[in-house]
Amino acid sequence: MIQIDALPAFSDNYLWLLQDVTRRECAVVDPGDAAPVEQWLQAHPGWTLTDIIITHHHADHVGGVARLKAETGARVLGPAGEKIPQRDVALEDGDRVTVLGLAFEVIHVPGHTLGHIAYFHADAEHPLLFCGDTLFAAGCGRLFEGTPAQMHASLSRLAALPDRTAVYCAHEYTLSNLRFACAVEPENPQVRARFEEVTRWREQGRISLPSSIALERATNPFLRVSETSVKKMADERNGQQIRTPEEVFATIRRWKDQF
Ligand code: ZN
Ligand code: FE
Repeated sequence: MIQIDALPAFSDNYLWLLQDVTRRECAVVDPGDAAPVEQWLQAHPGWTLTDIIITHHHADHVGGVARLKAETGARVLGPAGEKIPQRDVALEDGDRVTVLGLAFEVIHVPGHTLGHIAYFHADAEHPLLFCGDTLFAAGCGRLFEGTPAQMHASLSRLAALPDRTAVYCAHEYTLSNLRFACAVEPENPQVRARFEEVTRWREQGRISLPSSIALERATNPFLRVSETSVKKMADERNGQQIRTPEEVFATIRRWKDQF
């Protein structure tokens, strides 16, 4: 039995802590800060941090790695294509890795950064996805290194995962993403309903994650660039007919950057 909890860090990051309750072993995804993990380990004597799982090289995802590695000796897994501190295992697209007894498949998802990877656990009942800053709840990461075409291809791969896949992304951006989603698809009732639901959750201080692939396909404009409604809005923004879903993606990503 693996339990997954969010350890908040900085203003809006989540470090995902995977816990094997029977063995008292845990793993953390993208520890941009060591302190929340250290505090958790102090509050849970007898537990061991076995693995540090990294999606990409940004400081808010790797800032705590060196300290946690020094303190615990945990194995550091990260993308082969990026400079990751203390990395023990360099991962590429299609690689398989086992963490806390869970098998993960590595998916290379360039766009936010060029080497960015996601980790997918293909369970029939409870599939899991750790996708860093690539797919967000109702949004996607900024294009710091990659092209719109690369990010569109990466998101299309994630969108093709099973409906029930739980999506664990690295930031609490959901509400502002949904505000944008409402602007892109004002007539989409599911987007509106999700906006109202997440508004209530955030007023109560509740986390909006994990999401699911099904929910993202229904409400995330960046996964919906082939829909007529999204294309129409992109055409209006552009002042001309857009031909490909890729160009629709590029248009709404640019729009979001200034939204
Ligand atoms: Zn990032
Ligand atoms: Fe980030």
